[in-house]
Amino acid sequence: MTTLGILGGMSWHSTVDYYTHINEAVARERGGHHSAELLLASMDFGTVRALQVAGDWDGAGRLLGDAARRLQGAGAEAVLIATNLMHKVAPAVEAAVDVPLLHIGDAVGHAATAAGYGTLGVVGTRWVMEEPFYGDRLGAHGLACVVPGAEDRQVLDEVIFSELTLGVVREESRATFARVLQDLASRGAEAVVLACTEIQLLVRPEDSPVPLIDSMAVHAAYAAQVALGEPARPAG
Ligand code: GLU
Repeated sequence: MTTLGILGGMSWHSTVDYYTHINEAVARERGGHHSAELLLASMDFGTVRALQVAGDWDGAGRLLGDAARRLQGAGAEAVLIATNLMHKVAPAVEAAVDVPLLHIGDAVGHAATAAGYGTLGVVGTRWVMEEPFYGDRLGAHGLACVVPGAEDRQVLDEVIFSELTLGVVREESRATFARVLQDLASRGAEAVVLACTEIQLLVRPEDSPVPLIDSMAVHAAYAAQVALGEPARPAG
């Protein structure tokens, strides 16, 4: 079994799901009382959020890099960042450790190409929808991305940080997401990536006219494969 180090707490509402999914996958594969060997660095999301709002990405990179180094020191043989957005500082995390980083974009990219999709809608925080660090990673898998318009990007970002990362689920916000997913499908998205690890707490498959790729679920599945001794790259 390979020991995983999880950089979590961003927010803890989705880290709970990672913990459940990884352990369930290992239990399915190994049976009995088997569960994953995990180390968790659960960040104070208040501190992380303040760095995001201040645009202090160097500070955020140092914070997560230090935490990843501590996970490695405690025995982690691979690390993962349990959020899409904080992959903005993935290079700083990778530079801080000698063990592999299991990148969420590779988990999503592999799931999408394995299912035969070429064009994906992407919904998440504004940085994930607007900046190249996320779309480029999917692009490296041969995928094209479509994102919501400027006004909708702002609305979705607001739902994530005023509701979902606080554990709040509202019917009106589900309807907002459903409208945006419809728009992305009409603009060519063959599937939509829930590229924020809390969106699956709100949006269900029946809210979308096209299939959904839950970034938390595919990332956790990738992590579970590595926990079970597979190489640190998404396998088919
Ligand atoms: N969990 C969210 C994501 O996957 C956003 C929270 C954050 O990391 O700031 O992007």
